[in-house]
Amino acid sequence: MSPQNFIELLESFAALPPQTFPLEEALGRFLGADIQAPEDLPPFKRSTMDGFAVRAKDTFGASESEPLFLKVIGEIPMGASGDTLALGLGECATIWTGGSLPQGADAVLMVEYSKHLDERTIEIYRAVAPGENVIQAGDDFQKGAPVLKRGRCLAPQDLGALAGLGLTRIPIAPRPVVAIISTGDELVAPDKTPQAGKIRDINSTSLAALVTEAGGRPLPLGVISDEFSLMQERCLEALEAPVDILLLSGGSSVGRRDFTLEVFKSLPNCTVMAHGVAVRPGKPTIFAHSGNQALFGLPGHAASAMVVFELFVRPLIRRFLGAAGDGRRRITAQTSQVIPSAIGREEYVRVALEEQGPGEKPTARPIYGKSGLIRPLVAADGLLKIDRDCEGLDQGETAQVRLLN
Ligand code: AMP
Ligand code: MG
Repeated sequence: MSPQNFIELLESFAALPPQTFPLEEALGRFLGADIQAPEDLPPFKRSTMDGFAVRAKDTFGASESEPLFLKVIGEIPMGASGDTLALGLGECATIWTGGSLPQGADAVLMVEYSKHLDERTIEIYRAVAPGENVIQAGDDFQKGAPVLKRGRCLAPQDLGALAGLGLTRIPIAPRPVVAIISTGDELVAPDKTPQAGKIRDINSTSLAALVTEAGGRPLPLGVISDEFSLMQERCLEALEAPVDILLLSGGSSVGRRDFTLEVFKSLPNCTVMAHGVAVRPGKPTIFAHSGNQALFGLPGHAASAMVVFELFVRPLIRRFLGAAGDGRRRITAQTSQVIPSAIGREEYVRVALEEQGPGEKPTARPIYGKSGLIRPLVAADGLLKIDRDCEGLDQGETAQVRLLN
């Protein structure tokens, strides 16, 4: 199956229904519904300066050489409504930064351009235009205006806007729960000392971290040996937990002890949608669903499992969160050397990026290594994509790199 067709399969999964969370718990969470402003922000016309609220036309013509006089009819204390005062011809009122403009005022003159002649009179040395030094009601958000879209990962400034609008109970997409099982007779938990012939489980840890990074909640279920009944039992438990996604790494190809495909086929209501995808690394990937629950059989090689996660699992987690795409930034880079590639599979080459001079694209240097190695990924900044029908890239050729952070 082509990676494009694989991505299309993700569209059959529905976003998780949002739940209400207190605003202070919303940082980094995904918004579960579009938000409109319930009221104007700010709710009233405000001054952006310390000075005098004026009728702009009363200041026209004022200059250093020909000052004008205004009558000060009062002061608007901070936190008080400006509506208690109304300016007439040639009148002004003392106001502070953030203060509410009195009736009739349409601008604010900075205190620096004025001088008190007596308690009730100022001389002004500058004209101000209507709207100068004023934030209008609704300048931030007008009542009913869109504020934030569903699927947005909430940043500190977003929480600030919501607080300003008085929205303290927020619809949030729950974190999709992602069960992670590693299978392999050769695997031991990372805190164990492997006997001869055994290796430590890498995938449970890297996949759990990728899940967290993508906005999901990992549920690591540990290591099991390549035994059909054990794998079947553990998968059933996970689906009943219930989880939204199950990642089973190892055993997805066609070796003598590779049972993932048979296990998935044996689960009740489980339909296998893909077995093998034309990407490198990551070909032996299995994808199945049971209702709105997704099951992935990931290749065991550490780098393959991570690349397949990037390409397919990450977008699915985001889909459950109501967010579009994979959420990774892409840049164009220039290859530092020839990068050969075989026709027939879309290839994702691990690359390190090096900044160049101003106006120049960064260079992408391939980091080669077998997909069973984790070090090339540790050294990589991103994945450079080579199209299926491309025989590779020349030195200095432009290519797209998906950043890994
Ligand atoms: P498999 O997909 O089961 O054929 O495994 C392919 C390779 O990846 C084998 O060399 C496995 O030992 C290795 N492998 C499988 N699972 C893991 C894991 N969880 N952590 C590290 N290596 C693994
Ligand atoms: Mg295996």
